Amino acid sequence: MYSEEFRHWSHKAADWGADYRETLRDRPVRAQTQPGEIAAQIATAPPETAEPMEQIFADFEQKILPGMTHWQHPRFFAYFPANAAPVSVVAEYLVTVMAAQCMLWQTSPAATELETRVIDWLRQALGLPEGFSGVIQDSASSATLAAVLTMRERALEWQGNKQGLSGQNRLRVYASDQVHTSIDRAIWVSGIGEENLVRIPTAGALRSMDATALEAAILADKAQGFLPAGIIACVGGTSVGATDDIAAVASVAKKHGLYLHVDAAWAGSAMICPEFRRFWAGIEGADSIVFNPHKWLGAQFDCSVQFIRDPDSLVRTLAIKPEYLKTHGKDGVINYSEWSVPLGRRFRALKLWFLLRAHGLEGLRTMIRNHVAWAEALAVRLEAVPDFEIVTQPMLSLFSFRHAPNGVEDLDEHNLRLVNAINDDGRIYLTQTRVDGRVAIRFQVGQFEAGEADVAQAFDVIAEVAARLHAGQGA
Ligand SMILES: *Cc1c(COP(=O)(O)O)cnc(C)c1O
Repeated sequence: MYSEEFRHWSHKAADWGADYRETLRDRPVRAQTQPGEIAAQIATAPPETAEPMEQIFADFEQKILPGMTHWQHPRFFAYFPANAAPVSVVAEYLVTVMAAQCMLWQTSPAATELETRVIDWLRQALGLPEGFSGVIQDSASSATLAAVLTMRERALEWQGNKQGLSGQNRLRVYASDQVHTSIDRAIWVSGIGEENLVRIPTAGALRSMDATALEAAILADKAQGFLPAGIIACVGGTSVGATDDIAAVASVAKKHGLYLHVDAAWAGSAMICPEFRRFWAGIEGADSIVFNPHKWLGAQFDCSVQFIRDPDSLVRTLAIKPEYLKTHGKDGVINYSEWSVPLGRRFRALKLWFLLRAHGLEGLRTMIRNHVAWAEALAVRLEAVPDFEIVTQPMLSLFSFRHAPNGVEDLDEHNLRLVNAINDDGRIYLTQTRVDGRVAIRFQVGQFEAGEADVAQAFDVIAEVAARLHAGQGA
């Protein structure tokens, strides 16, 4: 593709993008296709000769687009959001065009130095004390893996990478029964092993881990000759927003010399609002914290920030220094690839810089406060409808509910059918979870351009589809 053509198709893509965003509300949120339907339209062999861009672009619109679930749709209420504020999309285009590989300071000094700066902006924005530095990882899963590897190496006095785990005392890591599956994976991949992830029971409305049980588990493990390495706490768990008492957990961690990692992948963004910081009171006691600006804050996916108390331990765990990666004659520069598992890294700081400047913290706070208020209002409205029950009250902008009309025997099956029927309807998109073993429907609002009317429409759709489904069952 030559320069003029590149210009033409870039303009075309920009126009397409603006039209797409403008017309999102008219599209079904979740793709309405059957498995295999898209693949059946794609050639099974690669082309031997060049095809015209007109045809490729037309095929994108006709064959690919119908199979997309629209994550930027203002009525996307499923999972957690993966936002892409328009301004961050613009920044991402520039990053894509330059396509720099920002593994070392010298492979793009601006990327490294801007990353250091915006991480510190975010530290201030979230009310974290000085002394935390950080790095942008590709995902919370990678950040948690980096944290687990660091706790492993620290507990093994930096011998794990060299000697492996055989012959070592059994490492133990502690987390509640509400943490994300990325914690399980980090435990598998780090070689610690699932049986050494000790699940601490949770209690209370926020489903927080019981700090007394946590300490008892650590003491019991020590008595058996095991080697406690760290604790993983969560603020805003994926299922229903479970939130640990960070101050209590941090004091146990401190007492026993354990590394504390806090997973606030979703809820961390809300901490730009001072009134929500009560949910992570005591956070200054953490060794590392992960939050995803790509979830609620609006930075284009992917963008996951890990704050770190002592980057030296992380670098000691992950840095490799073959000759070709050395930066001779430049002391004091940061090579962020030493802070993460992958070597290669994209320039992710630019979209944060654009986003924070274009909206300002006040603009982002208003968005988050609105989402929380609208979710709370929706929970109140649903609770007032006979047959609906609120299963877990709103934690920030997330709550769960259930449709429980008289005469329906299998409520789990009924609610699964209800979620499917709602998603087939297409006007909104929801997902389900299990709370104490029983199916509940999750609702969260966090899409960057969602409005109050979109949340009001969620109420109408839920009530209407539930009534239709129930009538259809002949009740
Ligand atoms: C989304 C989420 C994760 C996983 O995030 P990735 O960036 O997709 O790895 C982990 N923990 C919590 C609490 C989450 O909400």
